[in-house]
Amino acid sequence: MIAATSQANQLASSFDPVGIAAGPGWQRLLADAVTDPKELCSLLELDPALVLPAIAAAKGFALRVPRGYVARMRKGDPNDPLLLQVLPLAAELDVVAGFVTDPVGDLDRRAAQGLLHKYHGRALLVTTGACAIHCRYCFRRHFPYQDESALQQGWQAAIEHLRADPSVEEVILSGGDPWSLSDRRLKQLTDALQTLPHIRRLRIHTRYPIVLPERIDFGLLDWLRGVRLQKVVVMHANHARELDEPVRQACQRLASAGVTLLNQSVLLKGVNDSAAALAELSEALFETHVLPYYLHVLDKVQGSAHFDLAEARALELHRELLARLPGYLVPKLVREVAGEPSKTPVIGTAEPLAEH
Ligand SMILES: *Cc1c(COP(=O)(O)O)cnc(C)c1O
Ligand code: SF4
Repeated sequence: MIAATSQANQLASSFDPVGIAAGPGWQRLLADAVTDPKELCSLLELDPALVLPAIAAAKGFALRVPRGYVARMRKGDPNDPLLLQVLPLAAELDVVAGFVTDPVGDLDRRAAQGLLHKYHGRALLVTTGACAIHCRYCFRRHFPYQDESALQQGWQAAIEHLRADPSVEEVILSGGDPWSLSDRRLKQLTDALQTLPHIRRLRIHTRYPIVLPERIDFGLLDWLRGVRLQKVVVMHANHARELDEPVRQACQRLASAGVTLLNQSVLLKGVNDSAAALAELSEALFETHVLPYYLHVLDKVQGSAHFDLAEARALELHRELLARLPGYLVPKLVREVAGEPSKTPVIGTAEPLAEH
């Protein structure tokens, strides 16, 4: 099977049990995403009054959503939890105290162009600014990708930094979404990383398995199978309804390529802020062979205040989850605090901690 991978490409049209060679190809689906608020509203039979505010809010951060993801939304429901993640709203233009452009201090922690090294043993590569979908709550929605992508110098500066630091055992491909890159670019990058003897693990932070599962095609699987590092994919689903049959099959393909699958979610008002919704998400993930990893408290990025929940409510929801589910289906509730040595667990304390 391993030796036959290039042959598998040629055979794809005749022998294709999972149906991944039949469609138009992920790049065409990506280019065909919905970017016009008017079209989105008409596809979903929504009130046309939503269009003008959406156009205004999309000026700063464009609407982008693949058609396969739109097809999972309920028609005529302006509160659909999938729609709310992508529809630009007038509320994004409100200036809200405490909501800033770089909430997690990324720009202070660049180790080389496009390389963020905040935590011991792992470093994060900003591989591209491109994403298959634009999530309105994204904490990197204001990130200066033009200046800060590691690709700009053919990965050179980032690779040299990693070469000089043997404490880094894991490289995280992030962005944007690293799977927006072509298979050829990905291979170029992992070939370079594999010349560094201290790198043991490759982690990929991506929304593609959820929002454009067609991306997980023969070419990508070929690349993954050829990478000899241990492989972890941390995907990003926020609601059980995001996980449909094509998503399940894409995850199955990833698992068959030797990848460990985890999920991170963001706690979002109106999308998944009930114990029932979060429990359903964990259960749907498990049915997809994916374990919940993190549940992030919203990073306070400008334009996302309408998704914010009080910390006390976040804790209450997390406690309900603990009481409802087996431990392995309860994600860790965390927040990102600039300057801390890891994501910070959100834990209830009856009184403020004493100084230490
Ligand atoms: C979140 C993050 C990581 C990964 O942290 P884990 O706790 O290992 O998942 C690594 N680097 C940066 C810069 C991050 O923001
Ligand atoms: S896919 Fe990830 S990086 Fe891209 S907009 Fe969504 S949350 Fe942000």
